[in-house]
Amino acid sequence: MPQAPVSGAADPPQTLMPVIMNAGSPVSVSLLAEGDPDPVELLRKDGGSPFVLSAEHAGRRFPRRLGTLGVSPADLDRHIAWDIGIAGVTRRLSELLDAPAVLQRYSRLVVDCNRWPTAGDFVIRFSEDTEIPGNSGLEAAHIESRAREIFHPYHDTVSGILDARRDSGIETVFVAMHSCTPVYLGVSRPWHVGVLYDKDPRFGHILLELLAEDDGICVGDNEPYFLTSDKDYAVPVHGEQRGIPHVEFEIRQDLIESEAGQAAWAKWIASVLRQGLGRLRESGALNNR
Ligand SMILES: [Zn+2]
Repeated sequence: MPQAPVSGAADPPQTLMPVIMNAGSPVSVSLLAEGDPDPVELLRKDGGSPFVLSAEHAGRRFPRRLGTLGVSPADLDRHIAWDIGIAGVTRRLSELLDAPAVLQRYSRLVVDCNRWPTAGDFVIRFSEDTEIPGNSGLEAAHIESRAREIFHPYHDTVSGILDARRDSGIETVFVAMHSCTPVYLGVSRPWHVGVLYDKDPRFGHILLELLAEDDGICVGDNEPYFLTSDKDYAVPVHGEQRGIPHVEFEIRQDLIESEAGQAAWAKWIASVLRQGLGRLRESGALNNR
């Protein structure tokens, strides 16, 4: 298993009692406490690259008040807790491209920042075959606290960067960075990397064309899963709704567990994105909306 660059999971956090604010109705629950990090890791806010990177599942921190939601240390090392390796890839990619990057520090078991706050799996009770005891029977106020203190600050940061670039007429391509487990429910996945898109295939198709020229890599076209505007959040909201070119990468986690793997994949993705940008410009599809 890779070292966790932003994780506090190695040392089980002290559990605090939830704090109920505004006794009476409506009830508001305070989630983050002193010592809990900001959910947003923001790199190169004013970077000069056309690319803006996001990583909704980059971290596996837990707010102190939640402990580890009853999840075992062994399960905290698994893909159910975070997108293994993607933080390291995204940070390096940000540096190589001079691209703004927004990474989310808390575990996807606390709140899934690539789901709509109204979705049933926004706060998940089962992940793959593992129960998340601390997420069972939650009252609405607890779910709202995760949206208010983690989800919204994170996505507001992404939106703020994209708004500022739009207002300044800076060309922008949105890239959501994710990683996926090599085996899910006992089924192996052959794809080294997946290229995901839905309603706007402009950039996804260009990347697939480019990647098809490389015999050494197995690329998934909307595999191991596909995007939808109902299920997913980052690409539909930050890419499709804005009308800017976009893509989501899903890199297989066994390839980016090590720092060497993360560095190699960041370098390779940087090269692919630069080439893709050239073709996007040639196609006339890159505009400043
Ligand atoms: Zn992910």
